[in-house]
Amino acid sequence: AKEQGRNNFQFFAPWMDTQVSNRLEMLINLRRALDQDEFKLYYQPKLSLKDGSVIGAEALIRWQSPEQGMVPPDRFIPFAEDAGLIVPIGEWVLRTACHQNKCWQQAGLPTIPVAVNLSPRQLNQSLPDFVSDVLAQSGLAPSCLELEITENVVMKDAEKSVATLHALKRLGLQISVDDFGTGYSSLSYLRRFPVDALKIDKSFVRDIARDADSAAIVKAVISLAHILNLRVIAEGVEDEEQHAFLKENACDEVQGYYFGKPMAVADFTEWLTRRAG
Ligand code: C2E
Ligand code: CA
Ligand code: CA
Ligand code: CA
Repeated sequence: AKEQGRNNFQFFAPWMDTQVSNRLEMLINLRRALDQDEFKLYYQPKLSLKDGSVIGAEALIRWQSPEQGMVPPDRFIPFAEDAGLIVPIGEWVLRTACHQNKCWQQAGLPTIPVAVNLSPRQLNQSLPDFVSDVLAQSGLAPSCLELEITENVVMKDAEKSVATLHALKRLGLQISVDDFGTGYSSLSYLRRFPVDALKIDKSFVRDIARDADSAAIVKAVISLAHILNLRVIAEGVEDEEQHAFLKENACDEVQGYYFGKPMAVADFTEWLTRRAG
C-alpha cells in the first residue's frame, strides 16, 4: 500500500501545483501512518505546586515517519484537521491513552489522570458515546481521564458544544481549557461551560520574568480561576524563576521541561517508578 500510495502521488504530481501535491502526499502518508501504527504517544508529567507530587500526565502525539523521522504534531495535526483525518487519529489517541493509563495502574504505579488534547472537529455529538465506550473497554475510571479543549473549540457552535461538554461531564471525566488567554472567546463562556481547570498558555509563562504585562496576566488568570472555583495549571515552565513566581502566586499545578519533558512510554514508566519509589 505504501509503494502504491507513493506511485500515485508521483503520477499526479506533474499537473498539480506544489501546494496541492504536498497536501496530497501528506494525506496519503497520514492515512498510511494510521493503518501502519506509525503514531506514538509521549507523556509529560503534571506536578502539584504545593508538594511537587505527580498529579497527572498529558498525552502528546508524535509521528514516527519512515521518511522524515519523528514529526512533531504542529507539522501534521493541521493537515489532519483539514482532511478530516483528525477524527480517526483522535480516536486512536483516546483509546491508546486510556489503555496505557490502565496499564500503569495495573502495574502498581500511582493513579493519575491522563489528559488528551481534542481538536474542534472531535467535539461532536457522538463523542460522549465514543468516550464512554473507550472507558468501558479499557476499564479506566472516568476520573482518570481529562480532556483538554481550546477556547476556539467551543466558539464554533456554542450551543451544541455546551450540550456535548455537559454530556462528557456526566460521564465523570475532567475538562480543561488549553492555551487559555490566546483564543478569541469572551470570558462569559467560563460561566456556561462545565470546565474544571484553566491551562495558562506557555507564551505568558515564558515571559513572566522579563515582561510585566505577562506577569500581570498570569496573576490575573490565577485569580480568575480561583474565583470561579477552577484549578489552574501553568504550562511551559522551564526554569526556577518561573516556578517560584507561580508558587508565590498560588498557581495549583505546573508542567514543563523544568520538571519533565514529554517521554516515550518506557521512559515515562521509568520516570514515574523512580518518583513513586
Ligand atoms: P499543547 O496542548 O499546548 O501542548 C503543549 C506543548 O508544549 C507540547 O508540544 C509540549 O511538548 C510543549 N512543551 C511542554 N513543556 C514545555 C516547555 O517547558 N517549554 C516549551 N517551549 N514547550 C513545552 P507538542 O508536543 O509539540 O504539541 C504541540 C501541540 O500539538 C499541542 O499543544 C497540541 O495543541 C497539539 N497536540 C499534541 N498532541 C495532540 C493530540 O493527540 N491531538 C490533538 N488534536 N492535538 C495534539
Ligand atoms: Ca494541551
Ligand atoms: Ca497549551
Ligand atoms: Ca496548542
